[in-house]
Amino acid sequence: MNSKLSNRVNNMSTSATLAMAAKARELREEGKDIIGLSLGEPDFTVPEFVKEAAIQAVKDDYHSYTPVDGYGDLKKAIILKFKRDNDLEYTPSQIVVSTGAKQSLANLAQVILNEGDEVLLPAPYWVSYSDISKVSGGIPVEIPTSIESDFKVTPEALEAAITPKTKMMIYSSPCNPSGSVYSKEELRALADVLVKYPNIIVVSDEIYEHINYVGDHVSMAAFEDMYDRTVTVNGVSKAYSMTGWRIGYIGGPEYIARACNKMQGQVTSGANCIAQRATIAALENPPSKIHYMVEAFKGRRKLILDLISNIPGIKANEPDGAFYVFPDVSFYFGKTLNGVTINSAGDFALYLLEHANVATVTGEAFGDPNCIRISYAASEEDIKEAMKRIKEALA
Ligand code: PMP
Ligand code: GLU
Repeated sequence: MNSKLSNRVNNMSTSATLAMAAKARELREEGKDIIGLSLGEPDFTVPEFVKEAAIQAVKDDYHSYTPVDGYGDLKKAIILKFKRDNDLEYTPSQIVVSTGAKQSLANLAQVILNEGDEVLLPAPYWVSYSDISKVSGGIPVEIPTSIESDFKVTPEALEAAITPKTKMMIYSSPCNPSGSVYSKEELRALADVLVKYPNIIVVSDEIYEHINYVGDHVSMAAFEDMYDRTVTVNGVSKAYSMTGWRIGYIGGPEYIARACNKMQGQVTSGANCIAQRATIAALENPPSKIHYMVEAFKGRRKLILDLISNIPGIKANEPDGAFYVFPDVSFYFGKTLNGVTINSAGDFALYLLEHANVATVTGEAFGDPNCIRISYAASEEDIKEAMKRIKEALA
């Protein structure tokens, strides 16, 4: 707390994923052999055809400010992608390109929420949804789920959480952190509730769309009666291993896209020009070009689940997508290991960092205090070594 700073930032939490990654980096610099399974970041390099497009853009002298909401031909590529992969029809004025999906989400919160508006967050939810909402005046309303229901929210629980102040709902499928993927039937059942409340805007975060092991991705906006009130968020960070290139985008109702454009015009002036050119190449190519990464993640998912099943007291379900496992570790609460008493998932994650040299993230940051998140976007070697160390530290 620093009284010279705004209440806004004083009341904000630090991103737990980024904080843990920074801590792991710091410990590594001190010479500790830390295995980082905290950050959701593919360990692959950027596909060659994307790199080539970026190099070509530099050679072609792309250097100036771009249109605030993205290059016209990038928007065209996004429109074709939405049609090809999601059966969604958008026009250019419904698309906004931003500096990562994180900025897309921040824009949405800024342009949709007023002070005191409630934001529904089926929990566990991605760590930044809560603070992005709060900093825009919103009040996060968590809807708890459990490992038994595969961390999916039911229509009954959704309806019970709705109040006259509900303005927005944000969810991800495939979900970060649980890996759960909503089926068409499950999403339809949620849509059946939402259509009764036309003031609620739904933000469907589909950034893990391609990292799906059941192969049945459904966009909320593809339901005709939800199209006008759903904003689809996506980006190239995860599927194309382009986390540092910082490109995300939305498709949604025109009035919302225009508002995001206006907001962004005062805040960033638009996304990086070279990364936008490269994103055209990424999206114009068929998703089959990146399936080698998805196949690798699938193998690692099996590996990590097999290894976790041999660690007593850790209960994990099989995630259908993304590259995280979200095991329940509450068995260890109240227990003392190597002189350390563990009372929470935060204590547990810290214990793993200090006694196993493995970085994970506490589930508290994602709205589930019984779990921790382990990213398996890491090499098989690191996954094996990390699980061995965790098993030994808990023995
Ligand atoms: N949504 C989810 C669910 C995520 O896991 C992430 C993590 N990067 C983002 C949005 C933001 O992605 P980016 O800003 O890198 O596009
Ligand atoms: N989305 C990733 C994660 O959840 C990257 C870190 C972040 O942006 O918070 O780990």
